[in-house]
Amino acid sequence: MATRVFGFVDHVITQHPDGERTLTLRCIHPDCRWTVAPTADVDRAQGDAIKHTAATGHALFARTAEDMAVVVRQA
Ligand SMILES: [Zn+2]
Repeated sequence: MATRVFGFVDHVITQHPDGERTLTLRCIHPDCRWTVAPTADVDRAQGDAIKHTAATGHALFARTAEDMAVVVRQA
């Protein structure tokens, strides 16, 4: 967890409990447009990438993970 002091008040930034983590995958082989759209089903997304590699031999992917963060004032 990252902490930063603003003036005399401590704040922290963390994952919002109502937000979900999502994963996006994109094959980076130059002749391929295969992608997985942002999904909260991380295991399925990565399983799909493994299947893509098995079918094509393309083994390199750009992965983007995203969540919703919230900054709160510490008591
Ligand atoms: Zn590919």
